[in-house]
Amino acid sequence: MGRTFPNILAIRNPIGGRRLPRPAPLLIGAHYDTVAGSPGADDNASGLIVLLEIAERLSEAPPERPVWLAAFCLEEQGLLGSAAFAARLRKLKQPLGGAVILECVGYASEEEGSQRKPPGIPVPVPAAGNFLGIIGNDASRRLVTVVEEAARRAVPALKTLGLTVPGCGKSLPDVRRSDHAAFWDEGYQAVMLTDTANYRNPHYHQPTDRVDTLNFDFLEGVIDVVGASLAARTGPNAE
Ligand SMILES: [Zn+2]
Repeated sequence: MGRTFPNILAIRNPIGGRRLPRPAPLLIGAHYDTVAGSPGADDNASGLIVLLEIAERLSEAPPERPVWLAAFCLEEQGLLGSAAFAARLRKLKQPLGGAVILECVGYASEEEGSQRKPPGIPVPVPAAGNFLGIIGNDASRRLVTVVEEAARRAVPALKTLGLTVPGCGKSLPDVRRSDHAAFWDEGYQAVMLTDTANYRNPHYHQPTDRVDTLNFDFLEGVIDVVGASLAARTGPNAE
């Protein structure tokens, strides 16, 4: 498009004389662009809020393994930012302990009928849009389990719906609609956390995707899930 669009990466390394080489970093990512005409509160400021809150927690309690916080550009243009990033990691042979990608994570409703089922999804989907989707591929099954268990432990009240799809998810286009797909394509483990976007949120990509439509209890639950996943992945028992 004739311009340079930066991804933004913040790296938090363990402090002190930890063993070298360090374990592979865990990446937490969200995208900072939105579509024209939409303020993008759910898509994707909600994901960035999680990133910023996790950054604050890491500043208070350094991790046991490196944590990379990534804000990707041009997600809405076909994952261009994350695709460039993941391809570069692969080229540099940089190992990654996994990527947790925050899609829309701020909209929830207790109302029956507020949730639509994305076509082709091979599991039952509840009628109330109050659960967090945790989507991985076969190669990321363990990361899906880590996040699901972290959710159960840290936020028992938050409902989750875990799903793993074959290969790179190409048979189910809806499960490839965020930056995690760029990591799948380069052979990295990655999961997407999502409120299911347009299958739940009537403000998706609209001028009405405003902060006053977000559910902050739900969003806070997501922050705690990511925090607990990090603790699980970064604690002394992590691989
Ligand atoms: Zn979007």
